[in-house]
Order: sequence, then structure tokens, then C-alpha cells
Amino acid sequence: MASIRELHEQIISKERSAVEITQEALNRIQELEPKLHSFLTVTTEQALKQAQAVDAKIAAGEEIGILAGIPIGIKDNLCTKGIVTTCASRILENFVPPYESTVTQKLADAGGVMVGKTNLDEFAMGSSTENSAYQVTANPWDLSRVPGGSSGGSAAAVAADECVVSLGSDTGGSIRQPASFCGVVGMKPTYGLVSRYGLVAYASSLDQIGPFGRSVEDAAILLSAIAGYDPQDSTSLKVKVPDYAATLKPDLKVRKKLRIGIITETLGEGLDPEVEAAVTKAIDQLQELGAEIHPISCPSFRYGLPTYYIIAPSEASANLARYDGVKYGLRSPDADNLLSMYTRTRSQGFGAEVKRRIMIGTYALSAGYYDAYYLKAQKVRTLIKKDFEKAFQSVDVLISPTAPTTAFRAGEKTTDPLSMYLNDLMTIPANLAGLPGISLPCGFDSKGLPIGLQMVGKVLGEEQLFQVAYAYEQSTNWHLQKPKIA
Ligand code: GLN
Repeated sequence: MASIRELHEQIISKERSAVEITQEALNRIQELEPKLHSFLTVTTEQALKQAQAVDAKIAAGEEIGILAGIPIGIKDNLCTKGIVTTCASRILENFVPPYESTVTQKLADAGGVMVGKTNLDEFAMGSSTENSAYQVTANPWDLSRVPGGSSGGSAAAVAADECVVSLGSDTGGSIRQPASFCGVVGMKPTYGLVSRYGLVAYASSLDQIGPFGRSVEDAAILLSAIAGYDPQDSTSLKVKVPDYAATLKPDLKVRKKLRIGIITETLGEGLDPEVEAAVTKAIDQLQELGAEIHPISCPSFRYGLPTYYIIAPSEASANLARYDGVKYGLRSPDADNLLSMYTRTRSQGFGAEVKRRIMIGTYALSAGYYDAYYLKAQKVRTLIKKDFEKAFQSVDVLISPTAPTTAFRAGEKTTDPLSMYLNDLMTIPANLAGLPGISLPCGFDSKGLPIGLQMVGKVLGEEQLFQVAYAYEQSTNWHLQKPKIA
């Protein structure tokens, strides 16, 4: 499918109707889903209705916004009123939210067309979508490989042209890592920039919703549409949201010398040499575009992973206490008293990874261990934040690979949680510090799999991140490559 801007031009010039464009996406979904499994629910009827409403406006000569009539995929941990929202968990199999998340409401108000709810790791816990209780999404570039996770369905759907853009959520890398594996652009915004109202909570101090697109511009347009203050989310920031797409320029020369820091800890040992080579080339390219390059050390980064795997499960164990068979979704039918209803519902409703995290979190928060684990992790979180603050005194943007490898084979890491967790090594620090991060394509390995480049910015540095990412993207043609889905 074309870009948002191109489709918008087609709709307003009446070259194509919103219904035709939506139908194109729905046909593509029908054709590819038997192979890809990106969607848990396809909302055909509602999508066509939304598209018809856009066409009616055009027929009446009314103005439409840039997202009107654009097919969008929504991660299935965002509540959609009247449409089942499962979080890829058995425990929410039949959960139909009575309310709409702020982000999906904003998209609907902008005339966006939701084509369906995308697959994820159960409750957004995982790096491959293999923890979904329903299906494993395939990577469009190689169907035997994973699309990354947890927002694997949203990334694969965009890469495979099943929709134009999509929404994901990122707690430790769940937008950026699948974007990297699927060869698309994914952005995790500054904590608080996008309302989390209606996002099913995983780890509330880390979760952020963000966009996927096949280009920096598409992702920028989508972020402008979903960002902004929301009184329904107490962590929402009261800031004015820029029109990110309006300030994109194809080079870096117009601005005062841009300083880019390379996080030295993310290169070398443990990194796939082909990923390292592609990232090194991207750095040279940025230098050619006019950026100044500085190696930067962030020594506390190596504690990011263990810190995250204390804090995230701790918060998850508290957030997931609400699934008790009383209020939402599944209730075990074969319990004869209240306690067994709780325990049976939870043992039948949650998958292995979710149970593992609830146990880790409950342990870390229990009296006697709290100081040794949770409190310690919070202190290290502050150290990581300080590393970033120090780095941003001398550079504007930090660069690293998004993930240590390209997409791995389905089943390759399912029996070894630790090797699965290692995928998030480079993405987690930005979540711990609340900073914005973007992943964009920077090459392919010898197997033809996409490689992702990560850029991390200062608090509310989205505008600059998009500008740098756009200038790089426009000087390459990585984003124009399409997977041949066989
Ligand atoms: N892969 C990480 C985890 O399993 C990050 C997930 C996420 O960002 N939602 O927790």
C-alpha cells in the first residue's frame, strides 16, 4: 500500500475512495493471514463503515484529516469498545471492553480505519509473539522466523502491507525490536507523551504506546495523532504536540551541527557481526550527512536487563492481580469455593511466561526481599537515568543497534527464557529512563533479514529524533524494500 500522504491525496482528489483502499487492505489480510497470523480479530464490517463515513464527507465536500480513510492495525492490548480485546491471553478470551482507549478514540475521531486487532505476546510479555495463547505470527521476510515481540502482529502487518500503519506498546522494547526484525519504523515516545488510558497495564512505569510505519513520515503522522495530554491518565504530560511530519527535512545540514553519540557498550561482544557492520555503515552515512560522531560510554547500561526483570515483573504481579475470575473474562467453571475459583481461574487462564513473571514479581516485592531486589533495582534505574543525562550533556542523539541479532527461528529460544530476555538488552534502558527511542531499517544480513538502527533522544526529543531518522532514511533505500511473502 502507498504512504499515508499518497493515499490522502488519492482520497481527496477522488482518484480512489476510502472504501476501495480499506477493501485493498482487507483483501490483503484475507490472502496473507493463513501464512502470517498477524491479526487476532479482523474488524471488516466496522472498517468498511468507517471508510464509508469518510467517503460521505468527501461527497459532501467536507474537509478530511490526513488519517481519514487510512487502514490501521491496533495491538490487542488496547481496549476497543464493543470489540473483543484479548491481550493474547485465555484469561481475556471473551473480554469485550465497555470503553475505548484514548489512542483508538483519537484515531477514530481523525477518521482512521481500524482493520483489526493484532497479535502479541500474552500481556505484552515476550520478544517473539510465541507467548500468544492463540497463534504465533510469522516474520514476513522469512515465514519460519519470528517477527519479534511483543508487538509482533503490528510490525508484521505493516511490513506485509496488511495495513498502512499500526499501534504497538513498548515496555522494554516491544515496538522497536519487532520493528527491527520486520524492517519497518517503530517509535517508543517519551513516557507520558501518549495517554495509557485503555492500554491493558503490564508495567505501568514503563509502558508507552507508539506507532509503526513503513517510513519515518508515516510513523511521525501517527504519533502526532495519538499524543497529547489526557486527564484520564495521571502520568500524562501537559505539553503541546508538534506536527512531527511538518518539520522533516532530507538533510542535517540546515541545523546547527548535530552531535550523535555511539553507545560503546552496545557494540562488540555478543553482537552479530553483520548487525555491527550495518550499524557502523549507518554511522558513516550520518557523518556524511553532516553529523558529528562521538563515542559515548554508558557504564550502567549493562545492569539494564536485570533491573528491568525485577521492576517489570514486580509491577506486572500487582497489575495482573485484577484477573481473579470476578471482574473480567475467564472464570473457572470447576471451582466449589472462592479461593479455588481464584486459583483455578488464574492457573487455567495465564500462560507459562505470565505465571513466571507473576512469581518473580511477587517474590521481589515480598517483605524481606523488597530491599534486596525491588529497592536496589530502583536505585540502579536512577544510575541508568544519570548515564543518559550525562551523555546528553555532550550529544543530541544516541545511537546503537536496536537488537543484538536479526530475527531468529520460531522455537529457537522458547525453552530458554534468559536468551529470549537478552533481545531487549539495547532497548530497555530508554524505558527505564522514560526517553523516546526509534528503530528504523539500516540494512539486511546475508540471509536477507532486516537490521534495525536505534536512536534515543532527550525527554520530549521526538521532533529531533524523527528529523535525524528521516534524513538518514531518505539517504538510503532500505525502507523501500518489500518482503516477498512465500
Ligand atoms: N520483551 C520484553 C519483555 O518481555 C519487553 C516487552 C515489552 O516491551 N512489552 O518484557
